Amino acid sequence: MNCFFTLLPVVELKCAVQCYAWGKIGLNSTVAQLALTSPSFHLEEDKPYSEFWMGTHPNGPSKVLKEGKESLLSDWIESNKDVLGNKVKEIFGGKLPFLFKVLSVNKALSIQAHPNKPHAELLHDKRPDVYKDPNHKPEMAIALTPFEGLCGFRPLDEIQKFVKTIPELSAVIGQEATTALVTGSDPHALKKAFTALMTSSQDAVSEQLGKLLLRLQEKKTSGHDISNQSSELLFRLNSQFPGDVGCFCIYFLNHIVLQPGQAMFLGPNLPHAYLAGDCMECMACSDNVVRAGLTPKFKDVETLCEMLEYNCGSKEENIFPCHQDPSDSHVTIYDPPVSDFTVSRIKIPASCPSYKFKALSGPSICVVISGSGAVEDTASKICLNRGTVLFIPANTTLDVTCKEEDMEIYRAYCVL
Ligand SMILES: [Zn+2]
Repeated sequence: MNCFFTLLPVVELKCAVQCYAWGKIGLNSTVAQLALTSPSFHLEEDKPYSEFWMGTHPNGPSKVLKEGKESLLSDWIESNKDVLGNKVKEIFGGKLPFLFKVLSVNKALSIQAHPNKPHAELLHDKRPDVYKDPNHKPEMAIALTPFEGLCGFRPLDEIQKFVKTIPELSAVIGQEATTALVTGSDPHALKKAFTALMTSSQDAVSEQLGKLLLRLQEKKTSGHDISNQSSELLFRLNSQFPGDVGCFCIYFLNHIVLQPGQAMFLGPNLPHAYLAGDCMECMACSDNVVRAGLTPKFKDVETLCEMLEYNCGSKEENIFPCHQDPSDSHVTIYDPPVSDFTVSRIKIPASCPSYKFKALSGPSICVVISGSGAVEDTASKICLNRGTVLFIPANTTLDVTCKEEDMEIYRAYCVL
């Protein structure tokens, strides 16, 4: 709509799409489906669409669409710092503290962990070429579809059972580490065994992995049930990364399938990997990842094994609890123990003709996942459809008119 000025404090964003090889292909990707809302996006049916970035990160900066013009969100915030709210502006140096994403995962992403803040500073000092910034990178994934990942060390008895019953696994980690782990005689046995696995030679790993796959295949062919050895996942990961040490990691880490709306929070030093599915992801604005398997990228195995917290826990313990907003039954809140971000999911039922977004004391970014509606005042109007992204300044309420269909919106924000 043409207009000379707008009274709306909220702005629409045009967001960057990343096309890493592990993304879902063409319209199977939620990322591509969301990007379609932008008239300048041209879909290629056989191309992977992996990530949709909402924020100011220089590798994929969002742009503000205002009165027919585009400008960088980072520049717009720089010239309108009050949109961050007083506290965020002061504590995060006038910058947006979080990066909000949608991920569509077709193929496993690396086995990784993120350093805490002091460690991130140290890594950046020592290896600025690899660890490009000194910030920590806590992150949260909220499933949009069933979302599969590895997260945290399994309960010790499960790991012990795998090591006892899979001779190829114990051959890789070695006799000494196997005995220590199985007998429970050494409080550091888990760290020693995991380190032995991750640091063993590529030849030893591919030889034993080959033997294991062959043995499981033969058992399967002769009609045995091999599901108790996570064989489907093992075969799948090996087909994506043949002979990779990360395939053996499934016997150490919990294999979790989140249902839509369920979340994982990846705090510092927690080993994890995303395997398949679509999710919302929010993180502190940083690049700090220490990788050790299932990746063609640089691996820093020694740093990873040293930094991890070797705490065992069940799948259920690795699912991050959310709660309903006590003042608004449409809102579910995912509030991790970090100051950089919180995420909420807003579900507006078809029976609601309008909905008021609460004012927050910090900045927020909203993305429409389903449904449609509009935000308007006397001078201008922003239509909301699947894939519309809005930046809502601090201390701003937002009145949305809804069409007669359910609407689902995710909102990332920072309030201090
Ligand atoms: Zn991660």
